[in-house]
Amino acid sequence: MGGWIGPRIRFKCLLCGECCRFYWVPLTHVDVRRIVERTGLRPLQFAGEVPKPKVGDWGIPAFLLSDGVEHYLVLKKRVDGFCIFIKREGLSFACSIYDSRPTTCVFYPFVYARDGGVVRFEVVEAARDFCPGLGRGRAKGFDAEFAAALAHDEALAQYRELVNRWNRLVAAGAVEATLEGFLGYITNF
Ligand code: SF4
Ligand code: SF4
Repeated sequence: MGGWIGPRIRFKCLLCGECCRFYWVPLTHVDVRRIVERTGLRPLQFAGEVPKPKVGDWGIPAFLLSDGVEHYLVLKKRVDGFCIFIKREGLSFACSIYDSRPTTCVFYPFVYARDGGVVRFEVVEAARDFCPGLGRGRAKGFDAEFAAALAHDEALAQYRELVNRWNRLVAAGAVEATLEGFLGYITNF
């Protein structure tokens, strides 16, 4: 059943770290729980938010806070713009939570779309001029990403339900609409 279709392209991450500096990395409840288990950190130590009106529509669930606008859940950044989990190793940049990194990081510099049972991968348009690993290394296969995409779709559907429920509770004034409250809600339901 199903399978993947992907671009005929070579790719090898050169650990330049640019994607870990340039982008906000969105999280789901599954990402948050996995990182907590791996690191022992509290969610508030690594998860932050960006207001949707500021960054535009990413097409993923956004949760209400007490300021009355919707927010996306993201990994926090350091003051220099890098993700807080980046780790410098000589001239390279490595991920300190590589095996537990958010699913979005697993796919980069590719994105996927579902077409029935088939998962179609393509290069992130902005990455063509941005990611020096494209065109390097071996021909890219997507077996691991295919499994991750199926799991991520399930996680996103659950996360959407959680966010919808949270937003209804906020609208009813039934919860304290803080980031800490939201993180507690999505990790303890
Ligand atoms: S921009 Fe490309 S080469 Fe650089 S760290 Fe990200 S995936 Fe790797
Ligand atoms: S979690 Fe790891 S791979 Fe993802 S942005 Fe942070 S340092 Fe980069």
